[in-house]
Amino acid sequence: MQSHLVAALDIGGTKIAGALVDDSGRILVRAQRPTPAREDGETVMRAVEAVLAELAASPLWAGAGAVGIGSAGPVDASAGTVSPVNVPGWRGYPLVERVRRATGGLPVELVGDGVAMTAAEHWQGAARGYDNALCMVVSTGVGGGLVLGGRLHTGPTGNAGHIGHISVDLDGDPCPCGGRGCVERIASGPNIARRALENGWRPGPDGDTTAAAVAAAARAGDPVATASFERAARALAAGIAATATLVEIDVAVIGGGVAGAGEVLFAPLRRFIRDYATLSFVQRLTVAPALTGTDAGLLGAAAAATPAARGRAPVTFSG
Ligand SMILES: [Zn+2]
Repeated sequence: MQSHLVAALDIGGTKIAGALVDDSGRILVRAQRPTPAREDGETVMRAVEAVLAELAASPLWAGAGAVGIGSAGPVDASAGTVSPVNVPGWRGYPLVERVRRATGGLPVELVGDGVAMTAAEHWQGAARGYDNALCMVVSTGVGGGLVLGGRLHTGPTGNAGHIGHISVDLDGDPCPCGGRGCVERIASGPNIARRALENGWRPGPDGDTTAAAVAAAARAGDPVATASFERAARALAAGIAATATLVEIDVAVIGGGVAGAGEVLFAPLRRFIRDYATLSFVQRLTVAPALTGTDAGLLGAAAAATPAARGRAPVTFSG
């Protein structure tokens, strides 16, 4: 008898993934649709409803007691709305209310995708067993989330830990967010590739100019490619060290495509963290690659709606 399932939704700019997840983090049923990101808001919502309908067709659906949503941001968990940058049809879109209606009134928990990844890593991944952790996704953008005192720390709107948009370069390049010298502006995959190209790195015969290609060149000893990854590692290290100094984290977990560069990223990152995390209480800070992989979004959405996984008592929703 399954009575402790959660319906999880992972909503991004390219796909809407859904799953039924049990309370030990096993994914039992999956459904997925492409995100019609260029369409109007109702068309995007119909894709969400199609994912939910496919899950609801499973005999296991009867055991689902809540819905967890991890969405591309910004989100406003207190208002139950989402405004994903890459889904222009949704601005202040009342996703929580719409999902509640589509599921016959199930309680709905909404978090941003960085917080979702953090929940997944704390529940099942590299932050498991740590009471204080910063988890980050470094890919097209840079996102993150915090576990403090053993609990997922979402902040009032569900965006706490958004390390990609803190400034680590006071006079640095303008960032699309409106700030300047943000971690993301230096450490995201596209920015690693851009900087390497600007400094004279050239792709191989396949023409691949992604950060993964820059990582391969760095691994082969290319000094410009190496320097671009070292710059990214310094930006990440400064942001991680600042976070550790503010709230005393024990571990920084890093996932996303750029983390796939492995030691090309992690070796300089560990070195630079020693440069920036200098006070006695942050010197034991460690860095680890994320473990939950492509299911991080679904697991995190499920964790957000699973009280035991969040490290706190259930939240009761109304309205
Ligand atoms: Zn920014």
